[in-house]
Amino acid sequence: MHHCNVERLFTAYLALNPDSEAEMRDWARAQRNANGTAGFPDGVWGPYLPFVNHAAGGRTFTARDSFLPSATLNFRFDDRPAAPPPRMREPPYLAFFGDVDVTKLKFPPTLYVFVFDGTAPFEPPKTSGTATALVAHANFAGFVSVFFIDKPGRPCENCLLGEAFDVEVDVTDALRRNRIDPRKAKLFVLAEDRERQLHPLADTGAPTPALVGPYLANSLATAADVVTAGLTNDGGNELAAGAPSVYAGREVITYRVDLSSLPTSLRNKDDSVLDDVSMAFAGWEAATGIDFERKDRGEVDVVLGFSNHSASNAYRFDGAGGALAKATSTSVLFDSAERWAVSGEAALAPADGADFWESVAFYLAPVAQHEIGHVLGLGHSEVASDVMAPYYHFGPKGAPPALTKNDVAAVRAKLGL
Ligand SMILES: [Zn+2]
Repeated sequence: MHHCNVERLFTAYLALNPDSEAEMRDWARAQRNANGTAGFPDGVWGPYLPFVNHAAGGRTFTARDSFLPSATLNFRFDDRPAAPPPRMREPPYLAFFGDVDVTKLKFPPTLYVFVFDGTAPFEPPKTSGTATALVAHANFAGFVSVFFIDKPGRPCENCLLGEAFDVEVDVTDALRRNRIDPRKAKLFVLAEDRERQLHPLADTGAPTPALVGPYLANSLATAADVVTAGLTNDGGNELAAGAPSVYAGREVITYRVDLSSLPTSLRNKDDSVLDDVSMAFAGWEAATGIDFERKDRGEVDVVLGFSNHSASNAYRFDGAGGALAKATSTSVLFDSAERWAVSGEAALAPADGADFWESVAFYLAPVAQHEIGHVLGLGHSEVASDVMAPYYHFGPKGAPPALTKNDVAAVRAKLGL
């Protein structure tokens, strides 16, 4: 028995690999009390309250129930709470540790990552400090733990036989917070061992990380990694999972753009905004045969508008960067804290000398197109080139990119076409 989501994965794993069940039962049987004796029913960590086996008269679960199939334990999955609306996000900057090979590591490290401006003086944190002090440091960006079992005489064979893997830390917030231009940014890393001692990265055997992200030479951390990170942020929606679209069977869907909500960056660009939104609907119209009609008055199916992150509205968005927009079946909300651009406007790569984070802007049309996919009931795709991938990307001159075969097949399935 595991935490709920792990249990779902475990159950799915056993369904695919039924021969593993005997191995898992052996492992469960081998669980002992802390003093090394067979200690059932309490097991190493005592009873797993508040979970009880109702079908077995309220017997408590213990360590020996770990790694038993859920059907054996007589419990069912409850319904999960509804997922929050998926959000399209800006592409992240990552400290990317490529090909981490645990056989080369001296200990299982927790890696604390810092970003700093390579053209300015920087006093790095010291190994004599504590992890608490590292996290409080202004340039701290995040940490990641690389876990493996290295007990002397009892190494974990699975850990040692596994392939090298990539590890990443999202440093976008720290760059933005410290107003560091990513093109001039450098990374610094300290590692903590299990005794909470700090070490320079070079003493761990872990690779030196690269900074990857938009506007950087090495912006191609594998697309798969980037998209996986996005799915994690978003609650793991799947492209065409779940119930049919609420618009199944419709020939016409009406919409309105709330022009009164346009943020400063789009003020006096009403016509361009309407053109961009119309362009965002066009691909979906071609894929589904549905007419998307703009109606400036009266009832409509979908309202598109901008919303902020203010004292009275603190939970709606996260300020500049991060989430760009979100959608339900009847609304699309864009984050008015972003700097927005309409298609055809000049390339958005921030100029040298300008404040990088002040000049980062996002084209409206591709974000609108992605959000309309959510209106129609789609989740997120794991394929980075799909319009429904969770990270912002755009076509020539800020136009929406073409829908891919995946996008088209998914929306047609959702609508029962
Ligand atoms: Zn999305």
